Amino acid sequence: MTYTSDFKLNTLTHQISGLNEIDAISLLTNAFKGEVVFSTSFNLEDQVITRLIKSNNIPVEIFTIDTGRLFEETYNVWNQTNIKYNINIKAFYPQFNNLQEFIEANGPNAFHQSIQLRKECCYIRKVEPLQRALKGKTILITGLREEHLPEGRHVDQLEWDAINQVTKFYPLLHWTLEQVSSFIFENNIPYNALHNKGFVNIGCAPCTRAIKPGEAYSAANWWWEKKPETEKINAVYALY
Ligand code: SF4
Repeated sequence: MTYTSDFKLNTLTHQISGLNEIDAISLLTNAFKGEVVFSTSFNLEDQVITRLIKSNNIPVEIFTIDTGRLFEETYNVWNQTNIKYNINIKAFYPQFNNLQEFIEANGPNAFHQSIQLRKECCYIRKVEPLQRALKGKTILITGLREEHLPEGRHVDQLEWDAINQVTKFYPLLHWTLEQVSSFIFENNIPYNALHNKGFVNIGCAPCTRAIKPGEAYSAANWWWEKKPETEKINAVYALY
């Protein structure tokens, strides 16, 4: 990060400090007109943020990444969200040629064969579409909460993402799961039915599973990869 962007980040952090989520998102949207986007996976936190944006008419573009391997329940809540807010959430898809080439070479479930192939699958289905979605954007809003982070790891509400060359903003960083759930129920917000079955971060169907009470969020994804714990945690963190 350059001195200039570092300075801007500190200034923005100072400006949003003490603001509620709605005012903070509004401030960023005014400061970066047309350059603030929100990436939703339709998880509980995402549904809260969509509600905050839509019920306050904040002009933030909402998009999702459709990897082609999502759960049926995710498509259902996506559809319900469109209907509730009378919107069509924009989806970014993997590049057809890349996907075809990868599947022809490795089969449809290559992510089980090796970590390298799993990463290639993630790159084609998630990373490249995200990079396309972020072209020309300055701020990316996501639903990361402190509880998603490994113990001892700290992030600020505004964080520079050098890989994607955007500043990430986490409006719900300090919310608890109880706060998120209460907000969902009190406001009658549609949510992914898999959350009722122990799913936390709901991504691609073959790579996401429910966790037991007390289990780390990191246990929900790519559990077959016998990686050191820190790597597994970082992989889950990278979803945001
Ligand atoms: Fe592929 Fe699994 Fe990554 Fe989805 S999470 S892109 S299915 S490896």
